[in-house]
Amino acid sequence: MRHFPIFLALSERIVAVSGGGDAALAKLRLLMKTEAALHVYATAPAPEIEAWANEGRLSLHRRPLESTDLTGAALVYAADEDTVRDARTQTLAHEAGVLLNVVDNLADSQFITPAIVDRDPVTVAIGTEGAAPVLARAIKAHLEETLPAATGPLARIGQAFRKMAEHLPHGRARRDFWSAYYFDAGPRALPRGKAAVEQALDDLLAEHLDRRERPGFVSFVGSGPGDPDLLTLKARRLLDRADVVLYDRLAPQPILELARREALMIEVGKTGFGPSTPQESINALLVEHATKGAQVVRLKGGDPTLFARLDEEIDALTGHEIAYEIVPGITAASASVAAIGQSLTKRGRNASVRLLTAHDTEGFADHDWRALAAPGEVAAVYMGKRAARFLQGRLLMHAASPDTPVTIVANAARPTQAVIPASLATLAAALDACPDGPALILYGLAPRNALPTIHQIRQEVS
Ligand code: SAH
Repeated sequence: MRHFPIFLALSERIVAVSGGGDAALAKLRLLMKTEAALHVYATAPAPEIEAWANEGRLSLHRRPLESTDLTGAALVYAADEDTVRDARTQTLAHEAGVLLNVVDNLADSQFITPAIVDRDPVTVAIGTEGAAPVLARAIKAHLEETLPAATGPLARIGQAFRKMAEHLPHGRARRDFWSAYYFDAGPRALPRGKAAVEQALDDLLAEHLDRRERPGFVSFVGSGPGDPDLLTLKARRLLDRADVVLYDRLAPQPILELARREALMIEVGKTGFGPSTPQESINALLVEHATKGAQVVRLKGGDPTLFARLDEEIDALTGHEIAYEIVPGITAASASVAAIGQSLTKRGRNASVRLLTAHDTEGFADHDWRALAAPGEVAAVYMGKRAARFLQGRLLMHAASPDTPVTIVANAARPTQAVIPASLATLAAALDACPDGPALILYGLAPRNALPTIHQIRQEVS
């Protein structure tokens, strides 16, 4: 780097320009954006220069530059477009010790004027050390297009608010505030004028200060079976305000997208089987963020109170006196039974329903198989894919009818939903037709005939 880019404070400083033609005009157009005291030395100045002088925007001297003119000057431009006169300016500049630019003469210049993208107070200066003016112009054109015109006014209004923003602690809190201003609240308010932007800044600061004062809090939120339409209004609102969201692997993307843009999204990689984040690490993350004052959403599929290790996470919080709430969600059993057009309970058939898992942390889970084997019983079996054979064996052993209807519902309430009707005798084989993704076994229920299931429709089509 042969030229070091700096931004020079020119307010009230003298900048001398020797010359009154096109080269001088080009430099003056840029210099007039500054607050410098501009002095132009030209015997035959262009009409624009005369006009600017009449408007008081520069001082015009209809004579050549003299050495005394440069006393205390910050910069001088040799812009006579004449080698002899430019050389004279160069000598005067050297004697006075003032930084010199000879227009279109890199070798004799001590500084160069960059290409400028002006979104005052945001200024981008582009320099190529004279190597590639075409490239500099292309970069400038690109930036002119990509930097919204609102950048300047927003930065100017924001600048006056910097002292106020110091009420927020350094670091993330302040960064979050400014990014909410520049990328959201600011651009939205700008069309309504400066006062509206200032009001938006006030409101935003109040909101962010309030957030700081709130103690950390954890919401255990049920995200339902996967369809964002099946989220509760409360779940949506909490996602919209969360500082931190902890979610399991395979949490549906459309639901994650409802989280606040600035929220810290942490995947805690928990699936029924396969690689998972240890429960202790999840507990530790919850405690860590809530202790820092974050509003944490712990998102759990379906309902957070069913097969979701909720109690372990609550125990971790209460151990640190962190407050929490539980926000219910639609559980997989509800979504699955809706998919087959049935009820979970029915007068005269079953007055109770079991929600059970065929697989727990210790392996296959034992149940009151004899009771379940009785005619008319209904159970929703969670995490049943791997335990289907075990379930089938136990129930047949306890004299359940091999004809008992069993329906597998995979990816309930998701675009890939599939319903696989079977019986207790054919359950294990039916699982081979089960697509990837979470699946629930509805024991004792067949799809209602009047309502063709997606699976049946698929079979008819194929
Ligand atoms: N808390 C969740 C259950 C977590 S256990 C709830 O209330 O739904 C995970 C099991 O839930 C999966 O193995 C599967 O059996 C079931 N499950 C979750 N989402 C499902 C879906 N969209 N379709 C079918 N079963 C689902």
